[in-house]
Amino acid sequence: MLKLTHLNKSYENHKVLDDINVVFPKNKTTVILGPSGAGKSTLLRSINLLDQPESGSIELDNLKLNYESNLSNSEILRRKSAMVFQSWSLFPHMTIMENIIEGPTQAKNENKEQAIEEGKKLLAEVGLAGFENRYPSELSGGQQQRVSIARALALKPSYILFDEPTSALDPELEAQILHLIQKLAMEDKSMIVVTHNMDFARKVADKVIFLENGQVIFDGESKEFFENKNRRIQDFLNAMKF
Ligand code: ADP
Repeated sequence: MLKLTHLNKSYENHKVLDDINVVFPKNKTTVILGPSGAGKSTLLRSINLLDQPESGSIELDNLKLNYESNLSNSEILRRKSAMVFQSWSLFPHMTIMENIIEGPTQAKNENKEQAIEEGKKLLAEVGLAGFENRYPSELSGGQQQRVSIARALALKPSYILFDEPTSALDPELEAQILHLIQKLAMEDKSMIVVTHNMDFARKVADKVIFLENGQVIFDGESKEFFENKNRRIQDFLNAMKF
């Protein structure tokens, strides 16, 4: 389980996350929804310690860290989650396989041959078998994003964090990535997904967290969210329609 307690984050005088208390269940997909600027990305980045909140705590797999105190456990905690960003951030000078095994061999000291074997399986899983010796520039955006997902999986993280993983893709490629994430959800991976695609959110979410102005407005089952009569939730869902 991943739990955030009393998490607060500000940029100068602007409170971006305001006393966040949420739980992300294991082997489930939690979708974080909310208008632009609500704090969704900052929340994900706080889990992965790319952003450091001023206060609050995070508990993940029996490891607890208070953000305001010393961050001696931060490296261990950071490696428990893997982030897939909006724009794939592969190393351009490395082959696809080198990109995938970089984390396992460098950060986790895994055996290189074994990491390559696992990397091949992961490439097959994301529909890119045989691409290991190519360079990122030889791949389409959608293919590069699939490599980013394979790279995240190679770290065997407790949680995979997706930050609007399709926002830089055209619709056909978007659908391919969404199907891949849906497949991972069906394999009971523990995932947290920020998305603007409501159809996808409906299909993939076990749980929804709705953020607005840095506050949790809704935290519950997906079905309950999409049928919710709360005015702010209704307004948001209506605004997301064409
Ligand atoms: P969302 O992902 O919901 O669109 P973000 O978490 O990206 O929201 O941003 C929340 C708020 O924090 C926004 O108002 C944004 O402008 C602000 N913000 C995010 N990152 C920074 C930063 N590095 N410096 C200053 N303000 C930031």
